Amino acid sequence: MNKKNILNGSCGCGNVKYKIDDKPLFTQACHCNDCKKSTGSSFVIHTMVLENDLKISGDIASIELPTGSGKGVNAYFCIICRVYVFCKYNISKGRVAIRTQTLEKTIEPQAHIFVKDKDPWIEITNKEICHDKMYDREKTWSKESLERIK
Ligand SMILES: [Zn+2]
Ligand SMILES: [Zn+2]
Repeated sequence: MNKKNILNGSCGCGNVKYKIDDKPLFTQACHCNDCKKSTGSSFVIHTMVLENDLKISGDIASIELPTGSGKGVNAYFCIICRVYVFCKYNISKGRVAIRTQTLEKTIEPQAHIFVKDKDPWIEITNKEICHDKMYDREKTWSKESLERIK
């Protein structure tokens, strides 16, 4: 990946800035009730990257929140504006889930998960990428991304 493909993102006030210096692994929208609560909206979009590819500057703090798996997640946010920029699920070590809408350029989701909890006024046009709950990663992620998380 050459320099011009580096992805940049930031919090709401500009204190926290980050860059991702290699290709993201996968981008997905989650419509579960936990994600609705933490965004105050209908769904979240997460872009998964390798922890080693993420470079962060600025003062950041974290809080541990519960997840459906029972393993928990650490949410990271700017200490000034409190915008939640990324999270680390304890179940997926070495990976970070960036909140896609904190990137300068958004990325279209490759999957929608927990569609069973989706708000009724949202219509997803591409039904092929909708999953009632979670998908089977081996069948959904690219071979290249699967190889990189080994
Ligand atoms: Zn901020
Ligand atoms: Zn969710």
